[in-house]
Amino acid sequence: ARRRSFQAQVAPLLRGEVLVLLRDVTEARRAAATRRDFVANASHELRTPIAAIRGAADTLLGGALEDPGAARQFAEMIARQAERLSRLTADLLDLSRVESGQWVMQLERVELQPLVQTVLELHAGRAAEKRLALTGAVEQPLAVRADGRALEHVLVNLVDNAVKYTPAGGRIEVSAARGEREVLLTVADSGPGIAAHHLPRLFERFYRADPGRGREQGGTGLGLAIVKHLVQAQGGEVGVVSGASGSRFWVKLPGA
Ligand code: ADP
Repeated sequence: ARRRSFQAQVAPLLRGEVLVLLRDVTEARRAAATRRDFVANASHELRTPIAAIRGAADTLLGGALEDPGAARQFAEMIARQAERLSRLTADLLDLSRVESGQWVMQLERVELQPLVQTVLELHAGRAAEKRLALTGAVEQPLAVRADGRALEHVLVNLVDNAVKYTPAGGRIEVSAARGEREVLLTVADSGPGIAAHHLPRLFERFYRADPGRGREQGGTGLGLAIVKHLVQAQGGEVGVVSGASGSRFWVKLPGA
């Protein structure tokens, strides 16, 4: 009887402990599964261009070198796939630096007008090629508390996507305005929009709404994951509103 009463006293306490322990184990398992998925995805993404480069080189060595037309075609393929590999490794490195906390944020006052101007200038060439109207609308004066380099990286990634996914002749606008407490930066495009069921997972590593199209556009599937981590590391928030008339990515940061 004494034993039963001991159990009766201890069991409820123990149950709490066991629950905590189980929760820890579940979280550790989930983290391990995420890591495994990531490594599997990353190796798959790396293997694809490597296989293409190897195939093209083999074809060249197997005789295509003798045919100038074919030789050029395979050489161009090698250059394209090498470019893709280099983008992928750069993005993987950025992601790992920001996720592991190695990319230390230096929060300071960042003026938005010159920053947006720089981002627009960086994309002017590609926008012109696609006859895209790329414009900026920044309230003045307006500044945020952020890491200048990280914030530029964020805007570059968002405008990059807008340029990639908006069909020729479309519009892209980068704007910044003061909200109640924060500053709201948005990148809006007149592109195809993103179906609602993709939105909850869009900022995950390697998640693509349209995998074929994403790869064809040269995307690595990591851009938005990097954006999310960089914004959060600066104490901000990021999100997207998307519909048939285009996508609007927004970033909220503390004003300065
Ligand atoms: P990717 O390198 O494939 O562009 P991202 O992480 O930058 O990877 O974006 C994830 C996915 O979100 C893209 O594959 C695309 O399907 C979708 N996406 C991102 N930005 C836009 C946009 N402006 N318009 C339409 N779809 C977009």
